[in-house]
Amino acid sequence: MAAPIVIEAVKLRAAVRHIVLAGGSNEREAALVADNLVLANLTGHDSHGIGMLPQYILAVVEKRLTVNAAPTVTGDHGAILNLDGNMGYGQVIGHDAMELGIRRARELGVCIVSLRNSHHIGRIGHWGEQCAAAGFVSTHYVNVVGRPPLVAPHGGSDARFATNPYCCALPATEPGGEPLVLDMATSKIAMGKVRVAMNKGEQVAPDTLIDAQGNPTTEPRTMFSQPMGAILAFGGHKGYGLAVIAELLAGAFTGGGTIHDGNWTRNTITNNMLSVIVDPAKLGGAANWRDEMAAFVKWVKASKPAPGTDEVLVAGEPERRAKAKRLAEGVPVDPTTWGEIVAAGESVGISASQTNAAAGIAT
Ligand code: NAD
Repeated sequence: MAAPIVIEAVKLRAAVRHIVLAGGSNEREAALVADNLVLANLTGHDSHGIGMLPQYILAVVEKRLTVNAAPTVTGDHGAILNLDGNMGYGQVIGHDAMELGIRRARELGVCIVSLRNSHHIGRIGHWGEQCAAAGFVSTHYVNVVGRPPLVAPHGGSDARFATNPYCCALPATEPGGEPLVLDMATSKIAMGKVRVAMNKGEQVAPDTLIDAQGNPTTEPRTMFSQPMGAILAFGGHKGYGLAVIAELLAGAFTGGGTIHDGNWTRNTITNNMLSVIVDPAKLGGAANWRDEMAAFVKWVKASKPAPGTDEVLVAGEPERRAKAKRLAEGVPVDPTTWGEIVAAGESVGISASQTNAAAGIAT
C-alpha cells in the first residue's frame, strides 16, 4: 500500500475551501464545509472527513446538492422546531439548525429540532459539540435515505437500513474543560470506514460484514460490488434496536421519510435528524451536576486498566487525542483519496497543481 501523504490541517482546510468555493458556494458555506470536514479528519474520523468531498462536489455538479441553501422553518411550536434542510450542504444546515435550537432552548429550557431533507451532515458529534459548547445537553438520532441500505437487521441476511448514528453530548464541567461526547454509528463500523479500508487495501475486522449470501466476510469490497453485502449492527439485537429507533425518530417523525420507500436511485446522501437540546440549569440536578459528572468520570477512569489496555477513557477522549496529535503532526491522507479530491477540484475548474499547491504538496 502506498504511503499516506501528510498534510498540515490548515493547508488541507485551504484546499477544501478552494474547491467548495469553485463549486459555487459562498465564503461562509465554504468555510463551514472545510472546517467540518477537516475537523472530522483531525478527530480521527477519516470516514467523515475530506474523503467525502468528491461525493459532495459530484452532487453539486449533478444538482443533487443545493449550494448556499439555508434551513426553512416549516413548523414553530415553541419548544419544537420543524426544519427542512432544502438539500443544502449538511455542514451549513446542521450548523444553522443547531443555532436555532440552541437559541430556543436558551429561552424555553428545551428545544426539539426536527430536521429533514439535508444533504450529508457528516460527523454527528460535531452537532453535539456545538450544543455542548453553548452549555447544553443534547441527543441526536439520525437516519439516511436516498441511497441503498447498508446494514442488515439482527437475524437478517441483507441490508435494510443505513448506519443510523446516535449521539449524546454533555457540556464540560468547568470553563475551558472538555465535553463528554458519545457519537457512534449503530453499525459495527461506519460505511466510510469500509471505504477507507478498501482504499488502503486492508481487510475489516471479523464479525463486521456479511457477503451477498449472508456469510461472514472481512473483504470491504463486498460493500462496493453487486450484489452488495451488508454491515452488521453493533451489539447484536441491542444496536439493531437503537438503529430502528433512530430510523423512525429521524425518518418517520421528522417527515424526512424512512429508507423503505426504495427511492435510492437519486443516489444522494440525505440525512434527517431529531435532536433534543436541554438546558442543564433547568433540570433537577442544576445545583451540582458539574460536581457529580466530574466525580463520576474520575471514578470510572480510575478502574485499573485491563491487560493489554493502557488507560480507561470516556467517550470523546479518543477524538481529542487524535486531534492533538494530528494538529501537531499533520493529517495522513491516502493517495487514492487525495487523487479523488484533486479530480473533484478539476471537475469544478481547479487544476491539480492549484489543489496540490493549496495543500502544500510539491509536484
Ligand atoms: P467510533 O466507533 O470510532 O466511536 C464511537 C464512540 O466511542 C465515540 O464517542 C468515541 O469517543 C467512543 N470511544 C471510542 N473508543 C473508546 C474507548 N476506548 N473508550 C471509551 N470511548 C471510546 O465511531 P463510529 O461508530 O465509527 O462513528 C464514526 C462517525 O461516523 C461518527 O462521527 C458518526 O456520527 C458518523 N456517522 C455519520 C453518519 C451520517 O449519515 N451522517 C452515519 C454513520 C456514522
